[in-house]
Amino acid sequence: MSRVLIIGCGGVAQVAIHKCCQHPDVFSDLCIASRTLSKCEKIKNELEGKTKTNITIKQIDANDYDALVSLFKEFKPEIVMNLGMPYQNLKIMDACLECDCHYLDTAAYEPENVNDPVWREKYEKRVKEKNFTAYFDYADQWSYEEKFKQKGLIALLGCGFDPGVTQAYVAYAKKHEFDTIETLDILDCNGGDHGYPFATNFNPEINLREVSSEAAYYENGKWIRVPAMSIKREYNFDGVGMKDMYLLHHEEIESIARNYPEIKRIRFYMTFGESYLRHMKCLENVGMLSTKPVMYNGVSITPIQFLKAMLPDPASLGPRTVGKTNIGCIFEGYKDGKKKRYYIYNMCDHQESYKEVGSQAVSYTTGVPAMCGAMMILKGLWTLTGAHTVEEYNPDPFIDALNKYGLPITESYEPIMVE
Ligand code: NDP
Repeated sequence: MSRVLIIGCGGVAQVAIHKCCQHPDVFSDLCIASRTLSKCEKIKNELEGKTKTNITIKQIDANDYDALVSLFKEFKPEIVMNLGMPYQNLKIMDACLECDCHYLDTAAYEPENVNDPVWREKYEKRVKEKNFTAYFDYADQWSYEEKFKQKGLIALLGCGFDPGVTQAYVAYAKKHEFDTIETLDILDCNGGDHGYPFATNFNPEINLREVSSEAAYYENGKWIRVPAMSIKREYNFDGVGMKDMYLLHHEEIESIARNYPEIKRIRFYMTFGESYLRHMKCLENVGMLSTKPVMYNGVSITPIQFLKAMLPDPASLGPRTVGKTNIGCIFEGYKDGKKKRYYIYNMCDHQESYKEVGSQAVSYTTGVPAMCGAMMILKGLWTLTGAHTVEEYNPDPFIDALNKYGLPITESYEPIMVE
């Protein structure tokens, strides 16, 4: 029986809310707090009478630290699940420390304004020192390690699918399949079709920032930088078929490289269709992906935020998306002195997800692990205090929960490797 507070009520949060309400024995009292109260009201009305979880709702702006603290003091959650934007991660972590609650999120902190001169100076220094160019960086959240530890609290960072489940797959492979892992390729395939010429399957601002940024992978202790979308491969995905995929910089590479230094090369690939890439390039060329505010008719507008307002809401794609996602990890390494390959992945059907919780599979594959991660903490199955990513915890109970609650694994011992 636990009190849980969810921040955000978008695509991912709505799935997590449905899934928490399927387990009222663990999630007995749920407060949904987001910027737009009507979204919280809608899902509360949908679920009331169908769940034993008590649901309350609250309007909040997560940029308002005092409002966060007063809400946490009033509701007294055991854990706060931050399923809104990554821009507020640090603020919400601070409020959790002040109010003695665990913390969970699904995306690494990055600043909303990447042109802020103070942040920019720190960023440029990091790029020079580490050749690490992404705007997101776990270092900011890892710096909370001691504070959370001292309070006996857990900050579980990046507990969606990727980051999240992909790191549990790494811990699982190391525990059950390998003595040493040499290479890792994380493959994220969305074989879904929503019928729009252009839409993103999760928050457009974060998605487009991620995809249009310089790409990178990790090899022999170093970041190797390459231009965005410059490394392309084809892969035949189980349940989906042949797809083009592109190398991207992705959050979990940083934490896996830190926690599994034995892995010599870590790469991340994501599939994109022709239409998506053509639209993105065009939007980029005309400046619509810019995060730098511009003045228009006396009003300050951030182009990428205005674009977000024009694009379909990812939470609305559920009824029209068909096909499957396939996300997983391919490893090469050694077991008992012999070379070995192993592929672990999940396939998730967009329409099945929609039938169960009213959302497409990209939100589903993120919201289910967020619920399962919170469940691990609330049931006392994950107890390591401090600020940690998923691969630092025992993968077995988490993967058991994913198997039971909607994201079962498939394994292959003869995978086709990525060149
Ligand atoms: P959405 O845009 O659908 O939802 C975001 C929600 O957060 C909205 O309800 C929004 O409110 C709310 N919100 C935004 N700003 C604030 C604020 N200042 N105060 C309070 N609430 C706020 O995004 P998604 O659900 O698609 O994504 C949620 C998170 O999950 C993102 O950080 C994304 O990067 C991450 N993600 C992680 C994945 C993984 O596998 N690890 C995969 C996919 C997403 P409003 O309704 O007013 O806009």
